[in-house]
Amino acid sequence: MTDIMTPQQRHYCMSRIHSKDTTPEKRVRQWLWKHGYRYRLNVKGVPGKPDIVMRKYRTAIFVNGCFWHGHDVQCTMYNEKCTIIDSKCCRIPNTNREFWVNKIFRNQERDQKNYEILTENGWQVIVLWECQLKPKKLEQTMLQVEIQLHDFYIKTFNHRSKTYIHIEEESLPMVAEEPEEYGQ
Ligand SMILES: [Zn+2]
Repeated sequence: MTDIMTPQQRHYCMSRIHSKDTTPEKRVRQWLWKHGYRYRLNVKGVPGKPDIVMRKYRTAIFVNGCFWHGHDVQCTMYNEKCTIIDSKCCRIPNTNREFWVNKIFRNQERDQKNYEILTENGWQVIVLWECQLKPKKLEQTMLQVEIQLHDFYIKTFNHRSKTYIHIEEESLPMVAEEPEEYGQ
């Protein structure tokens, strides 16, 4: 293949590729894939268009940017007015502050609505924040996700099998009441 790019152009392209490869969302996907999990992306018809949908686990994963979704932003009431306190990973600029605050609040409201719809329909919602997905924290965060996936899967499965064996339920040992174990 003939190299038709100048070094500058190549550098630009490489940096683009590099930055794309390391987005938080991509890191999550890569981790899941590497560990044998399969998923769909931005599935139409699922409220809020989750970044990652895992049908088998009936789980929707949202990868949220800390700024746009207002991670850990606190609202303190003072004189019946809400004063926003920034968090470590969500620093709202002082210029046009009200504009940003409103934008972030609207995003949060919309997020909340989508999460509710999903939960009401029997889905598990996992929200992952950009700051939890930095290379140093990724592994720990994803291990936690793995636990949530299996925990929810077992609960859902137990729930279903309970309905199927409804008639014999009373004669069965109390297995379903035992503490649940995580899958491997
Ligand atoms: Zn954060």
